[in-house]
Amino acid sequence: MRTCIIGAGYVGTVTGACLAKLGNRVIFVDNDGEKLELIRERRSPICEPGLDEIMRNIEVEATADLNYGVRNSEITFVCVATPTSGALGNSDPRLVKRVCQEIGKSLNRYHLVVIKSTVTPGTTGRDVIPLLEKDGKRLGQDFGVCVNPEFLREGFAVHDFMNPDRIIIGEADERSGQILEKLYESFASPILRVNLKTAEMIKIASNAFLSTKISFINEIGNICKNLGIDVYEVVKGMAYDERIGDKFLNAGVGFGGSCLPKDLQALIAMSGRETGYNPKILREVLNLNQQQPLKIIELLKRHIPHLANMAIGILGLAFKPGTDDVRASSATTVIEQLLGEGAQVKAYDPKAIPNFKAIFPQIEYVEPDEVLKCDAILILTDWEEFATLDYKGKIVIDGRRVLKAEEARIYEGICW
Ligand code: NAD
Repeated sequence: MRTCIIGAGYVGTVTGACLAKLGNRVIFVDNDGEKLELIRERRSPICEPGLDEIMRNIEVEATADLNYGVRNSEITFVCVATPTSGALGNSDPRLVKRVCQEIGKSLNRYHLVVIKSTVTPGTTGRDVIPLLEKDGKRLGQDFGVCVNPEFLREGFAVHDFMNPDRIIIGEADERSGQILEKLYESFASPILRVNLKTAEMIKIASNAFLSTKISFINEIGNICKNLGIDVYEVVKGMAYDERIGDKFLNAGVGFGGSCLPKDLQALIAMSGRETGYNPKILREVLNLNQQQPLKIIELLKRHIPHLANMAIGILGLAFKPGTDDVRASSATTVIEQLLGEGAQVKAYDPKAIPNFKAIFPQIEYVEPDEVLKCDAILILTDWEEFATLDYKGKIVIDGRRVLKAEEARIYEGICW
């Protein structure tokens, strides 16, 4: 099929590259000239294992001209960001709306518009469809609409796109759903077709559940730490119960990234605003996660009570290994606190330094051997290479369970 991808970020690039690999024609549309240039050079505009190789072996187009992309395709995927807006944590669908208004103007024959960006329940029906209809076009006649949330994990994005646990198709009408189901016909995954609102809720509820698992086990981990119990052994014992399992129960410095914190906040804000319901569990999941990175500083202070002028080394800036994404990374909270207490921060990350430098230009970025010379070392991302460093003689506070670091002179695990 001929597809247009609007927004060549994490979701858009992976979607477009994988669809092209499967034999579809793909036109990428983005307003970032550098990303378009990289795509034209057959390079990936984002860091994601396996993506550069796919990009080298596919033929795609890249343009800033949305009208061209829409008119030369049958399906358009909207993959622009939906950031948090304001102190209440509302999801901001402005970019989705802007893009859909332009798509509406470009429609000249039947076209399927697919919302892949994560939006709160009701957004597509209430905000997107009227914009597509603004120029006199009619849903069902001139265009179709689907919500097709993306569940990929950064660091495993290509694998996850190609082998999804499920494909959710929210459809405005049957024809829309059928077209999208056809695009996915070569996938072995179960396909669930539901209405638009339900598809939007499936995505945001899934992320809320994953966040809840992490904050839950961090809370148990915080109790375990006080009792001298290793929470990872506890999880091992719990996981034999099939109702519990062992996934997403890695206690540590908390969750970050562009999705979990933002989608959780969006669900809490939407629930209060639109339904008057105060989701207490979800609020506490978020509060716990905001506090969790600071635990590592509490532990550090057991060994170095005054941080002023002390050199503190940071291993890991990305919100998780395998990505250069630092959005809502725990490293942000930890480093802000360290700087506030007058520490000198020296940091290393195999991939995320350029992105982190853009928000924290004032700290020193160094190689791992320089981090290891600091007065203490904090491990904030579990990159594999951190399990090969020599920690002997050091003070290490581990937020990610890098067990090699147990050889340190002083070793503290955040929840173990
Ligand atoms: P991103 O910021 O990496 O990419 C968005 C892209 O859209 C950027 O390249 C930007 O230049 C482009 N863009 C913005 N405005 C545009 C416009 N008017 N015209 C054309 N291009 C425009 O975002 P992302 O991480 O890929 O997330 C996109 C959506 O997918 C969000 O709603 C997010 O919540 C959701 N999502 C993300 C992930 C993830 O792991 N990153 C996973 C599942 C769902």
